[in-house]
Amino acid sequence: MKRTGLSLIAFLILFIVFIPTNQANENQPKNIILLIGDGMSFAHVQAGILASETPLYIEQFKNIGFIHTSSANDFVTDSGAAGTALASGIKTNNQFIGMDPDSNAVKSILHIASDNGLSTGIVVSCAVTHATPAAFVAHQPHRNMTEEIALDFLDTEIDVIIGGGRDHFMNRGDGRNLLEDLEAKGFHIAGDMDEAREVSDGRLAALVAPNHPPKYTENRGDLLPDGTRIALDLLSRNRDGFFLMVEGSQIDWGGHDNDVDYVIAEMLDFDRAVGRALEFARQDGETLVIVTSDHDTGGMGIHGFDPETRTVVAEWTTGGHTGLIQPVFAWGPGSEEFRGIYENTGVFDRMLEAFGFSRN
Ligand code: MG
Ligand code: ZN
Repeated sequence: MKRTGLSLIAFLILFIVFIPTNQANENQPKNIILLIGDGMSFAHVQAGILASETPLYIEQFKNIGFIHTSSANDFVTDSGAAGTALASGIKTNNQFIGMDPDSNAVKSILHIASDNGLSTGIVVSCAVTHATPAAFVAHQPHRNMTEEIALDFLDTEIDVIIGGGRDHFMNRGDGRNLLEDLEAKGFHIAGDMDEAREVSDGRLAALVAPNHPPKYTENRGDLLPDGTRIALDLLSRNRDGFFLMVEGSQIDWGGHDNDVDYVIAEMLDFDRAVGRALEFARQDGETLVIVTSDHDTGGMGIHGFDPETRTVVAEWTTGGHTGLIQPVFAWGPGSEEFRGIYENTGVFDRMLEAFGFSRN
């Protein structure tokens, strides 16, 4: 009798201690990792799959959807308007960063996540002030305002910044050194990936190139996959969760160059970052991983393939972007919601819903 009573009390204590925190909705992730392949359309994904000796991580996704990408003022978007749509759920004009067409600042999912106590970060293979990462952090009427965009990093509660663009923080028209401001805000500053790897707690700003880091084939190293792992190590220390955006920035540049080998090398590098995200999410169990593209670049078609040499024969319709519908791949709690055909703003809507946050 006494034993039963004690067991009952023990059971009730366990129930009270564990149920409220662990009994969150199964479809509600604690963390979201959004990976954007800039300019990564279907042909770019397929070129990577064909060229690779081994299956890509991206082939493991089961919940797949399509997004329309037009901007507020053009059927064919640029990365500023497309990044703003993914980040903030609004259609804006081409070249705009984190602003609606009337130039009102809009909060991104990164801002909303940090307002709700989550840790946040970005990892990119371009300058961190470039259009796609800027859309998650900054509010400027033109993507080329890189020094203003760098200043907006100081006004954002962000914890991990990994990419290029050091000059936009230290060699500026206004003479300021924003790295000192970041240091004052508690950031560890790293000038290369070796220094970044040594940071095991707190905030990290790893600005590993003066402007854009080099191509993968020109000795960029594992900035993207290793940066993703470092960011996950740091951000996952927050028990309330995190939001991380990772961009394979140069898939787009391979498309602009109509250079299929450039596209493939960047695609495979991006896929390794997807692998780091999936690895983390599998262990963690409370992480939603989304992989998408902001627009097509190059209008690439695949016209031939040699399985012996894994050579992809591509033809191109433009040196710019196209209005082709783009893929979305999702994995983890809440990933079923990303199936179907919808606007690029729907990626933001679904992330907000998955977190259970409101736009306020
Ligand atoms: Mg980009
Ligand atoms: Zn582009």
